[in-house]
Amino acid sequence: MGILSGKKGLILGVANNKSIAWGIARAARREGATLGFNFLGEQMEKRVRPLAESLGAEIVAPMDVSDDASIDAFFDKVKMEWGELDFVVHSIAFANKDALRDRFSITSREDFHLALDVSSYSFIACAQRAAPMMKEGGSLLTMTYLGAERAVPGYGVMGVAKAALEASTRYLAQDLGVDGIRVNSVSAGPIRTLAASAVGDFRKLMDKSARGSMLKHNVTQEEVGNTSVYLLSDLASGVTGEVHYVDAGFHIGAGDPGIPD
Ligand code: NAD
Repeated sequence: MGILSGKKGLILGVANNKSIAWGIARAARREGATLGFNFLGEQMEKRVRPLAESLGAEIVAPMDVSDDASIDAFFDKVKMEWGELDFVVHSIAFANKDALRDRFSITSREDFHLALDVSSYSFIACAQRAAPMMKEGGSLLTMTYLGAERAVPGYGVMGVAKAALEASTRYLAQDLGVDGIRVNSVSAGPIRTLAASAVGDFRKLMDKSARGSMLKHNVTQEEVGNTSVYLLSDLASGVTGEVHYVDAGFHIGAGDPGIPD
């Protein structure tokens, strides 16, 4: 018996076996959950479907979160297949790579909209379709990063999107709390993934993060997965609206003092 035994949940945002969502999926399955997955486009389906099937997924379907019709079709399928839902993991973000590398002050309206639409609004869009299928004890979780509250070089408009995502976590927690649904975010330290490759000078970021962290290492997919399943489970029944750091304690320190860039 695991801490998610008997629960059904969606894992949104697996791209490959390096994805943070994949670390969460494996931990959730280990803890007894029945899982459903989305994928973005046919290219992704080739990678996601075999991974999802290896965890006995009951739902594997397309969803592009920038398209309301696509979100509706995905959640309609979930409603048809399962009828009810215990948790959703939102592990999705996107920004134009150039917008992260250019000076922040020249961010275009288009790049701003794209980053906030896919990386922040999509959590609200998924929550509004998932919540009606949840009973008391439902749990929604999203993935954020320290760039939401600190000016991290190379993170630019994605930091603004993560700030909006963290605020959305609090407002969703307030709104859905009356229905007994919890909403939290995990702020993960840097992990080498497809999305991370868009961040300028990610290697340096990882290096500084390991040295500046309290535990002197970067976190793993598994560590994020293990904390996430706690937040999804009834063990966290008193926790909502929270930004929970899984960054080996980096955020409490002064960074990497004394070590030049
Ligand atoms: P990833 O590339 O493996 O995952 C990002 C996912 O977003 C992909 O599956 C991609 O298909 C999906 N996506 C992008 N646009 C989409 C759209 N329009 N519709 C549906 N899906 C879409 O990278 P990751 O690092 O695992 O990222 C997962 C989450 O974790 C993101 O929110 C990211 O910002 C966050 N995060 C990552 C790190 C890190 O260092 N890797 C640290 C903290 C937070």
